[in-house]
Amino acid sequence: MSNRPADKASVKAADRAHVFHSWSAQGALDPLPVHHAAGSYFWDYDGNRYLDFASQLVNANIGHQHPKVVAAIQEQAGRMCTVAPGFAVDVRSEAARLVAERTPGDLDKIFFTNGGAEAVENAVRMARLHTGRPKLLSAYRSYHGATSTAINLTGDPRRWASDTGTAGVVHFWGPYLYRSAFHATSEAQECERALAHLEETIVFEGAHTVAAVILETIPGGSGILVPPPGYLPGVREICDRYGIVLILDEVMAGFGRAGRWLALDHYLENGAAPDLVTFAKGVNSGYVPLGGVAISAKIAADFDERPYPGGLTYSGHPLACAAAVATLNAMAEEGIVDHAAHLGEHVLGPGLRALADRHPAVGEVRGTGVFWALELVSDRERRTPLVPYQATGDANRPMTELAAACKQRGLWPLVSGNRLHVVPPCTLSEAEAREGLAILDAALATADAHAAG
Ligand code: PLP
Repeated sequence: MSNRPADKASVKAADRAHVFHSWSAQGALDPLPVHHAAGSYFWDYDGNRYLDFASQLVNANIGHQHPKVVAAIQEQAGRMCTVAPGFAVDVRSEAARLVAERTPGDLDKIFFTNGGAEAVENAVRMARLHTGRPKLLSAYRSYHGATSTAINLTGDPRRWASDTGTAGVVHFWGPYLYRSAFHATSEAQECERALAHLEETIVFEGAHTVAAVILETIPGGSGILVPPPGYLPGVREICDRYGIVLILDEVMAGFGRAGRWLALDHYLENGAAPDLVTFAKGVNSGYVPLGGVAISAKIAADFDERPYPGGLTYSGHPLACAAAVATLNAMAEEGIVDHAAHLGEHVLGPGLRALADRHPAVGEVRGTGVFWALELVSDRERRTPLVPYQATGDANRPMTELAAACKQRGLWPLVSGNRLHVVPPCTLSEAEAREGLAILDAALATADAHAAG
């Protein structure tokens, strides 16, 4: 502790002098110095408490400072802080076993990475090697990470500045009934048309050139776009028809967030499974960086004889794996996934729908578990977004005002585009959920002021 800046001003000054932040114009930044955290809250240096309705970056699924996870990291740190990927290590073996136990079908081998983007990079590498095909299909409304291939796969505007357009990536439209790309008026129609559009895209790209379709099971960063029930089984069938690898990206939706161990558990039944699953964030709540790919038997078998051409110094890092083992065990012992499902069904879902009834700025409420979005509009009839796509500065004022109103009242929100994402820890208590809903109720008045009544 001794050589750390102790006061708010010096933390901020050193940050502004030396820390280069993600996704930001550095000159305009004013980051909040954070002091400590516990459970569903974190505190700043002035003693202000914030209810973490963002779970940091939708990763702290088990809440802050869960004692079992902290103790497991401490215990591992006392024994062995680092070990190369080539060794067999107890916490790594156990973390892999626990993840494999939660993936469907025969996805029983786990390749560990440091985060989500690297998981995606390796999943598509495996798919390309498995099929011998170059192309990858992903949704426009998606985020898959910020490394070279992952950012090209990403459909949302974070791709634009890094889009080489030459990586063999083709984008398509996924289902999103509220703003249907297919002029659909029902979930069933949206599902059928989105599947027909995907298949047509594959056919016109040349199915024999397509290695993989990668989809977020529930697209998160693009607006928590809960798919209609038949969509993922339909995508599985299309991939089977053309020999295409199906990769489900569970980085944000997985490990309790959607009220299931994996979000895909909502949709794929009777043994249906993707070929690869990417994960990160909630697998150990981000206490130490960790991600990975769960690999089906047939893809894993490709590398029984020939070497897998990929690796990372920190693949299966022991501190990260110790955190994963403790997180997954605590989630099971404490019924945390069921609790997230309960919160979604009985508290957050009804509570957010009640907000929609009271606030004209709320156009749609969608989600499951602790994975919800309020889509905000200036005109409900026309579904006009409260702020234009990619709004900045004054054009984005209704959203910055809403975020400020939440923070003033002690809730840390996740605001993205014209949406408020409601993504608290899975461990949120019912009382904390009600506290958060009451704050949102008060803060939404700022959005209503920009909406037609
Ligand atoms: N995939 C999805 C669905 C994500 O939401 C994210 C991050 O938000 C990523 C991949 C990238 O993960 P990371 O930031 O750990 O590289």
